[in-house]
Amino acid sequence: MISSGSAGGVSRVVLASRNAKKLVELRRILEPLVPGIEVLGLDDVDPFDEPAETEPTFEGNALIKARACLAATAMPSLADDSGLCVDALNGMPGVLSARWSGAGDEANNALLLNQLGDVPDKHRGAAFRCAVALCTPDGTEVVETGAMHGRILRSEQGDGGFGYDPLFAADGYDVSTAELPSAEKDRISHRGHALAAIAPHVVSALG
Ligand code: IMP
Repeated sequence: MISSGSAGGVSRVVLASRNAKKLVELRRILEPLVPGIEVLGLDDVDPFDEPAETEPTFEGNALIKARACLAATAMPSLADDSGLCVDALNGMPGVLSARWSGAGDEANNALLLNQLGDVPDKHRGAAFRCAVALCTPDGTEVVETGAMHGRILRSEQGDGGFGYDPLFAADGYDVSTAELPSAEKDRISHRGHALAAIAPHVVSALG
């Protein structure tokens, strides 16, 4: 297993996520922003006890995950926490987005459509929100956030992206975020905004 923060001019960070599709997105966004970075996943480091996401905020949960990863690996550690906040549901499912139905993405989307069944178009506003935390061996802790505002569609559209993407259209778009080219989603997404904000901190931490 890999145990060093840098090797041969490449700076390594560990990204504390097991969501394969989210990891793809995080890597895709971060690598061009931080030249020479190598983003390891949890499968690339020795296994450790991953903390439960017990905080009520995205920021709190991102920090829990990044701190635990730093403590276990002694390497610069990044973690994100994200979710969908629906206006008509008072911000739910929020930090519970991944486990809302208890039965995975398809069941989550079915539950969302069901919950919004009677809600008219003008009240279907929602936002994806993301917090990214960076914790480094010198004690640095930084958290940055991003949001993408839009609305919940009446049926699933598209098969790209992941999670609630087929049911979400960003403001200014007629298509869902599952129908957008990945570069376009990254440009406007909650995760894209949060990572763009944390990238300079990653550069200076690895510098
Ligand atoms: P986390 O792993 O606790 O951050 O869970 C995030 C959950 O929020 C995911 O499993 C999805 O259900 C949802 N989510 C977050 N970001 C996105 C996105 O960009 N598209 C679709 N669903 C998302």
